[in-house]
Amino acid sequence: MAGEPQSDCLFCKIVAGEIPTTVVRKTEDTIAFRDIHPQAPTHVLVIPRVHYPNAAALAAAEPALAAELLTEAGEVAAGEGIADYRMIFNTGAGAGQTVFHAHVHVLGGEPLREGLV
Ligand code: 5GP
Ligand code: ZN
Repeated sequence: MAGEPQSDCLFCKIVAGEIPTTVVRKTEDTIAFRDIHPQAPTHVLVIPRVHYPNAAALAAAEPALAAELLTEAGEVAAGEGIADYRMIFNTGAGAGQTVFHAHVHVLGGEPLREGLV
């Protein structure tokens, strides 16, 4: 069920402390940690502690929590001392989503290549 921990979910395991990560920030409802395969000098993932399969599902069910993800992404960037950064929400395997627990990538720390958008 949406919002409930999923036993087969990597990020639920990170929330439960079962998989070690480099935590950057924590709030009561969110965790920010460094991506294990960084694509830029700063590459941090911000996740809600509760499980939703993607960002839109999170926003539909808990809009305030979805907004907090954005606020926290900004705090991560500020904490890293970067003013220019990109937030990415991959949704669906065809778009590159590999972990089906809502998360935003915060990327920056160097000029970012122009991509699809
Ligand atoms: P997605 O491809 O679903 O948008 O993003 C998932 C991200 O999780 C990938 O960038 C991947 O490198 C990262 N990742 C996968 N496994 C781990 C892990 O065990 N620890 C951390 N910190 N990041 C992970
Ligand atoms: Zn999960």
